[in-house]
Amino acid sequence: MKNILKLTLAIIKPDVVKVPFTLQQIHSKILTAGFYIVQSRTVNLSCQQVENFYTEHTGRFFHKRLVTFMKSGPIHAHILAHPEAIQLWRKIMGPTKSFVTQYEAPDTIRGSFGLTDTRNCTHGSDSETSAMREIKFFFPQFNYEEWLEKQESVLRK
Ligand code: ADP
Ligand code: MG
Repeated sequence: MKNILKLTLAIIKPDVVKVPFTLQQIHSKILTAGFYIVQSRTVNLSCQQVENFYTEHTGRFFHKRLVTFMKSGPIHAHILAHPEAIQLWRKIMGPTKSFVTQYEAPDTIRGSFGLTDTRNCTHGSDSETSAMREIKFFFPQFNYEEWLEKQESVLRK
């Protein structure tokens, strides 16, 4: 079906949560872009939880600093809905590395507010498979089939 709402998992990382101005700017960007915020949680991740979430990056040179950063303070996890949820959220975030992105895509979230290549403000799922896995990770009670059946059409209308 055309325009059916899709879901993505967005994380507002600790560098943003501790700066109310930036948090507000990013929240406005989410709403201005036309996303629905389906569910939200504030979470403090343990070392083990960060390692489980970012298991694909185990062994990478930035892994240790990524774990240290992600457990350094509270994060906000959101389930966002939009017909192009995954692609649109990643477009608004901008490319991963803030040091380059601030020149190449200055209007994106990471381009505007990213502090370093690790402290880059936000996370967004990169595929439907990872979106489902990541939504389950933060919202284990969330029932996607039930949401699709009962709430998707209501929100879309
Ligand atoms: P994305 O968050 O854009 O999907 P990745 O999945 O490749 O990027 O990496 C996960 C996170 O690890 C990034 O958001 C960033 O915080 C950190 N990271 C990735 N690449 C680097 C790097 N080259 N140097 C430092 N930190 C990095
Ligand atoms: Mg990624």
